[in-house]
Amino acid sequence: MSALDILSRDPGSQARAGVLRTAHGDVRTPAFVPLATKGTVKGLEPRDVAALGYDMVLGNTFHLFLDPGAELVERFGGLHEFMRWDGPIITDSGGFQVFSMGHGTVADEIKGRASHGSDRSGAMLAITEQGVRFRSYRNGEERFLAPETSMEVQAKLGSDLALVFDECTPFHVTRDYTARSTERTHRWLRRCLDWHASNGPDGQLVYGIVQGGVYEDLRRESTEVVASSEVDGIAIGGSLGADKDQIYEVTGWATEVLDEHAPDRPRHLLGIGEVDDLIRGVELGIDHFDCAMPTRLGRHGMALVPDPESRWRVDLTGARFAEADEPILDGCPCPCCSAGFSRGYLRYLLRAKELTGMRLVTLHNLAFLARLMGDLREAILAGTLAETAAALRAGAAPGTLATPG
Ligand SMILES: [Zn+2]
Repeated sequence: MSALDILSRDPGSQARAGVLRTAHGDVRTPAFVPLATKGTVKGLEPRDVAALGYDMVLGNTFHLFLDPGAELVERFGGLHEFMRWDGPIITDSGGFQVFSMGHGTVADEIKGRASHGSDRSGAMLAITEQGVRFRSYRNGEERFLAPETSMEVQAKLGSDLALVFDECTPFHVTRDYTARSTERTHRWLRRCLDWHASNGPDGQLVYGIVQGGVYEDLRRESTEVVASSEVDGIAIGGSLGADKDQIYEVTGWATEVLDEHAPDRPRHLLGIGEVDDLIRGVELGIDHFDCAMPTRLGRHGMALVPDPESRWRVDLTGARFAEADEPILDGCPCPCCSAGFSRGYLRYLLRAKELTGMRLVTLHNLAFLARLMGDLREAILAGTLAETAAALRAGAAPGTLATPG
């Protein structure tokens, strides 16, 4: 039985709306999943995140493995207890971070995924069939991450959704390398599933990861391999393309295969979270997304606004906002705008590197995406996704569209 109850499918696209059932509660889909990379959504408390309407957060295996270590988190009763978030948690496998060290930043940039600055000072030492040996960015210690290690760390963290360990193949490598790497990822999928079958915590869902780069045959084949395994869900990872059109095309190859071979199982798109990408991703049949974008932008003073021409963002640190007394977005119900904080005040706080400024813009950005996903979900349920998607793409503010029926 699938962990996802699909309540409605959009007749005009591959979109679905549903409820993902996990050991720590339900996730309404489609959903954006905020990053709690190191065990916190930076600047926020769990109650802030829940109040914004989020059901699930994403913790990172690689970072938590290095610091504070899975054993310590386990001693506190697992990640839920440690960070005091009692809702669903998904944990990334660490593959992306460990391979970013060796493959450089191209994949990050192309994917629009956070380049975790501190990763760069670490170093990958060797990739073998067994796993990956690397130098920790924290203290220079040599560490080893294998498929089994990643699953064991995720078991100790006690996440509700674990991702299998994969090689995140970057954009700039050859087709031949991508093919060999994708095959190894499939062998690692088997090892992760075998480890989990005998040692995984009860109720922990496991998602396989589709690789295959930007090559249609490799992507489709990888999707078939993952879908034909006993995974509870499917994540789409790796480099998806050099531009948005290619990212959508590559994602579409995977979801087309999934519609045929695993129509009911949940799907996650890794590291994608710009407004237009979320809309398109939902149309392509993705159920949940994670991305550093809204929180990272917030800390750098960039606020999300319904303005397609400016890529849905405004830089609040700009000089023109020095005396601006309006909120980030008129009528926005988020804790920042509804309390009346002006762009001028936020600009001042952000330039002074005051924590409150970063926190307020993070709250606004996450609230913006929560309403966007809520609009898309409601529209799928009401059968009006095409109209809603068109309005949002044209610059309608999320949460202001007339609720149909
Ligand atoms: Zn706001």
